[in-house]
Amino acid sequence: MRNRSAHLALTALVAGVIALATAAPRAADVEVHGDVPERVDDLVALPNEAQEIARDLYKIEGQGAIFLINTPDGSVVIDTGIDNASSVRQKAIIDEIAAKPVRKIILTHFHPDHIGGLPLWEAERAAGAEVVAHQRLEYMARIQAEAMSFFLRRYDEIYPDLVDETATAVPSYLRLVPDRRVYPGHDHAFELGGVEFQVIATRNGGEGEDGLLVWLPQRRALFVGDLFGPLYPMFPNLYTVRGEKYRDPLDYIDALDRVLELDPLILAPTHPRFLTDHDYIRASVTRMRDAVQYMWDETIAGMNAGKTVWQLMEEIELPPELQLSQGHGKLSWSVRGAWELVTGWYHYDSVANLYHVPPDAVHGDVVELAGGPDRIAERARVHLEADRPLHALRLLDLARGRETPPVLEARAAALELLLERAAALNNYSEIGLLRSDLRRTREALGPGDE
Ligand SMILES: [Zn+2]
Repeated sequence: MRNRSAHLALTALVAGVIALATAAPRAADVEVHGDVPERVDDLVALPNEAQEIARDLYKIEGQGAIFLINTPDGSVVIDTGIDNASSVRQKAIIDEIAAKPVRKIILTHFHPDHIGGLPLWEAERAAGAEVVAHQRLEYMARIQAEAMSFFLRRYDEIYPDLVDETATAVPSYLRLVPDRRVYPGHDHAFELGGVEFQVIATRNGGEGEDGLLVWLPQRRALFVGDLFGPLYPMFPNLYTVRGEKYRDPLDYIDALDRVLELDPLILAPTHPRFLTDHDYIRASVTRMRDAVQYMWDETIAGMNAGKTVWQLMEEIELPPELQLSQGHGKLSWSVRGAWELVTGWYHYDSVANLYHVPPDAVHGDVVELAGGPDRIAERARVHLEADRPLHALRLLDLARGRETPPVLEARAAALELLLERAAALNNYSEIGLLRSDLRRTREALGPGDE
């Protein structure tokens, strides 16, 4: 039965992120070289508890951590958690340990696990706490709010158990208006109780173009929101198949260069555990930076050499010294994302693509000429036997809307093979989408057929 509220539906967009984060090994366990963290399928709630990162710096764990910085003249809060009981418990902990009053509430980006708890802070806002956000936050939230039905249908494919794709009420936090907007190139510096703060607006904060970093120069502590995503270290999620705007690789490199320039001794991301090993911080940030640079350089070189985006998706691989987890961001999707970010949707492959008649407008003709859907299924089986599940899938897509049991059975076999292969990278979105297709295929086959 589906009667979940809109806010839960929308928070599903970060459910996968949180699940990944929960499953990620803790920093002490992670080697920078070649370690691929585990993935879990379920949204697992982290215990709501305060960890003292260093004197006066706290991480309050939750489904989206909240950070607290205490000073003699009050406190600064970074992010507000997700809009459920988790953030209510986090807020109660902060009420206990925060130096009063709360002077600033800094939001690192628009995702619901970061701004969803903002309505709990009305009293502090009324008492003068200033809400600080990136200048692009309202824009990013606006896209989510205006195209909510569109996005919910997509999230339902990846997180089918968490999404009510029929929800229509836009959560209030997506309409938030900050008291102060921070612009890229114009850091917001302030001092509170002798503690210096610098709020830095990136052009690509890892999970969108509205990412803020919070730097405490005296402590050399850097709070980064989701700059590095839910796993650490990982290849960044520069293109989300759930459907957010392209995330610019060059802007991401700039953001990581800024991190390296600041040279933090404490690195505090929202989801993975905070890091205090200076050598490890430098080595891992450098590796992530260099991996994105490598992907970019190879993509541009391939474009200049006249290669297609399909060729580059297949060919480009990270060299051994730049290997990173692709459990969240996937390299080949970033290659395609970088290509389209540079040049847009027209690939000079067919002038037919300049017009509105889609390729599948003639798929029925092809299937008929082939002798019907079962003939398509037969040929797909040939590809499957030759270990080419993607070729099989392309053929079977011709028979979309005309499926017979042999077509569905071949499709299920292709998807099972792809799922087996996907286990190597363990990419959450890839596996979610393959599973969704497989489930639908089996449903169409009906009971008794596997
Ligand atoms: Zn997050």
